[in-house]
Amino acid sequence: MNLAREAAVLAILAASVSCTSVPPLAAPPTSVPQLATPAPELEAYRSDVEALVREALVKGRSFALLAELCLSAPKRLSGSKGAARAVAWAERTMRSIGLSNVRLEPVLVPHWERGETESLRVLDADGLPRERLSILALGGSVATPPGGVSAEVMVVTSFEELRARAAQARGKIVLFNRPMDPAQHDCFAAYAGAVDQRGRGASEASRVGARAALVRSMTMALDDHPHTGALRYDEDVAPLPAAALSTLAADRLAARVAAGERVRVNLQLSCRTLPDVLSHNVVGEIPGTGIEREIVVVGGHLDAWDVGHGAHDDGAGCAHCLEAARLILARGLQPRRTIRVVLFMNEENGARGAQAYYEGHLDELERHVLALESDAGGFTPRGFATDANPRAFESLRAIVELLDSASANALRVGGGGVDIGPLARSGVPLVGFRPDDERYFDHHHCERDTLDNVHPRELALGSGAIAGLLHVIANLPQPLRRNPQPVPAPSR
Ligand SMILES: [Zn+2]
Repeated sequence: MNLAREAAVLAILAASVSCTSVPPLAAPPTSVPQLATPAPELEAYRSDVEALVREALVKGRSFALLAELCLSAPKRLSGSKGAARAVAWAERTMRSIGLSNVRLEPVLVPHWERGETESLRVLDADGLPRERLSILALGGSVATPPGGVSAEVMVVTSFEELRARAAQARGKIVLFNRPMDPAQHDCFAAYAGAVDQRGRGASEASRVGARAALVRSMTMALDDHPHTGALRYDEDVAPLPAAALSTLAADRLAARVAAGERVRVNLQLSCRTLPDVLSHNVVGEIPGTGIEREIVVVGGHLDAWDVGHGAHDDGAGCAHCLEAARLILARGLQPRRTIRVVLFMNEENGARGAQAYYEGHLDELERHVLALESDAGGFTPRGFATDANPRAFESLRAIVELLDSASANALRVGGGGVDIGPLARSGVPLVGFRPDDERYFDHHHCERDTLDNVHPRELALGSGAIAGLLHVIANLPQPLRRNPQPVPAPSR
């Protein structure tokens, strides 16, 4: 881009970001006045952006990359052999697509294994096991004793209800059965409104003297597939074994209890936690030309649950990031800022890769101009969410409006992602890729999260959209305005 055009872009961006014209961050994005058209000088990027999207659709490798990861390392929970294979694949792939400065950055990760035994059986009047219900142990759960835990089921829909009925909970197996709220337009908000049951249910059940915890799977689908995910034990209570129950099984159990039946079940889990394992974040770059000290991060997470392929969560995000970088290289575009691809380890059960990246790069976070994460699946793009300050939000919206050829031209207020989350402490504006989310939680943390449930064209559109956004951000004459630093960096 020549200097005159740079100056014009600067002027347009400055003019379009009047701080009085936008609401505070907490306001819904619909209340932000729409720009009628993208800033004219940003239009200069449109042909490159459209060429990137076309390349992604016609000659793209998104699905091939995803297939390689899913088929060579399908079960890649932190600390597992699958995770080690995923790290090796990522390093190899970054080199093969032409990234520079490819390296492994160490992360010490937890190592939890599911074990051979997972069963939940309804007991008959004689105490004999009958109907078998579909469960998956929650990540991090302790095992049951040999022979399992046999007890009556108590059903609650909130921690408040559990506390109010604490006397009845003693000695029981508590089923947390509050569904994801179907009235929520945003499925991630519905998830956020229900997932406390998975994360804290076992500790809350322990606090009232229960013997084990069951959790309705975090999905709006009514089927017989249980969905796992991490729990976290409070230190002041004994850890209880805990498992996710399919939505149909949860409904069946809850209906019997609601009808007045005393339903006894036997839960058996043989999962275990092993010593921490040395693993890695995998990093590679397209070095900038001109303002290479400034860095645009794009990332997803390499680890995935030990069921299915981890195709949407987050194989798709890994494929998006790698393919976006490859597309930029394939088009011969030379970004002025450095584009850094980071495939994080341990998002699912610890986020230690996120913390390791933050701590390992503290001295250069001032030069991180933006961090973008793809961890919401590989469905048709809708746009992006961001925590950016109002001025940067307006700039980003003008840029995102260039992405209509990838169906990704909406920008709303929201988070970036778990892996890039710590960077907010240094004022880095965060952006999350947002595809359609209606079916995401049908697959999330479940054996249905397989390669065949990702559509190649939808995945490719996401890569094209991300490549387009990266291209513009990496070439803007001036970086986006940084966010205020809300929380000081922890002193260590
Ligand atoms: Zn994820």
